[in-house]
Amino acid sequence: MANAPHMLEAGGEDGVFLVIHGGAGRRVHEMSEERRAETDAALHAALEAGYAKLAAGEPALEAVVAAIHVMEDAPCFNAGRGAALTLDGRAEMDSCVVLGDGSTGAACGLTTARHPIDVARAVMERTPHVLFAEPSAEQLDEWGIEQVPNDYFVTDARRASLEEFKRGLATGGEAQADPRHGTIGAVARDRDGRVAAGTSTGGITGQQPGRVGDSPICGAGTYANQSSVAVSCTGTGEKFIQEVAAYQVHARVALGGQTPLEAARAMLEGVEDRGGDGGVIVLPARGRAVVGFNDGAQMNYGWAYGSERVTHE
Ligand code: ASP
Repeated sequence: MANAPHMLEAGGEDGVFLVIHGGAGRRVHEMSEERRAETDAALHAALEAGYAKLAAGEPALEAVVAAIHVMEDAPCFNAGRGAALTLDGRAEMDSCVVLGDGSTGAACGLTTARHPIDVARAVMERTPHVLFAEPSAEQLDEWGIEQVPNDYFVTDARRASLEEFKRGLATGGEAQADPRHGTIGAVARDRDGRVAAGTSTGGITGQQPGRVGDSPICGAGTYANQSSVAVSCTGTGEKFIQEVAAYQVHARVALGGQTPLEAARAMLEGVEDRGGDGGVIVLPARGRAVVGFNDGAQMNYGWAYGSERVTHE
């Protein structure tokens, strides 16, 4: 039986609303004061960038993308610059956007897109498809995606995490190096009540090249449905895929009549029962937002609602 996850509700029933996360999971190392301050500043900057779009009357998608851009540029998160590294020391990133009307775009195995979320958006807006694996440099150019060498994403901190992970493997101990922290996501509700969700990640430290987690899988790590909620997950991707986590939250609300909080809690318990952990942000088309994460895990998150700006890391 799973331990009760930590759950909280935020904001109000209606009106423009932005909720973000910067990853959740069990922390192997406590964050230093410096790292905490850096994370807090980046969460605030992301909230300001995203909320400005909503306040200006722009669609929820614009807020999601603007907030995620800020966090993809911040090396303290596991997305864009600062992405977790694969066993062979490269950044392989995944992203997804889903709108309440069902529009979806996603990409995995990205190695040169400075803002992986832009690739997800381009797939949604510029192709008849939903998910691309390793789009070529030519395709990315055609979609107007800014490209950088893979080294751009690789930070000393992530290199050190990978070395620690490998030492763990070599000594036969439990190989872990804060592998799950820092994936980012955003859910937004605009002036017209439309919702959108987005997630961007470097995956997990020491993952095998080619491994893909839940983040770019519509319905697993990311989902939105105008009849219920927008959802972005973070944590042990394999378990979130097995739980069909984000869609499960929607289904519990839309078909099962649960509140978003009950739905998110039940999903997180399911993840824990499978041996995983992580967190989720949920924003209903109408209703209060929910932030939840498993017992023993910690989560970076924030929300902007009216004059409220709340962050936690
Ligand atoms: N869920 C992500 C993945 O498995 C990792 C994370 O959220 O930190 O790729």
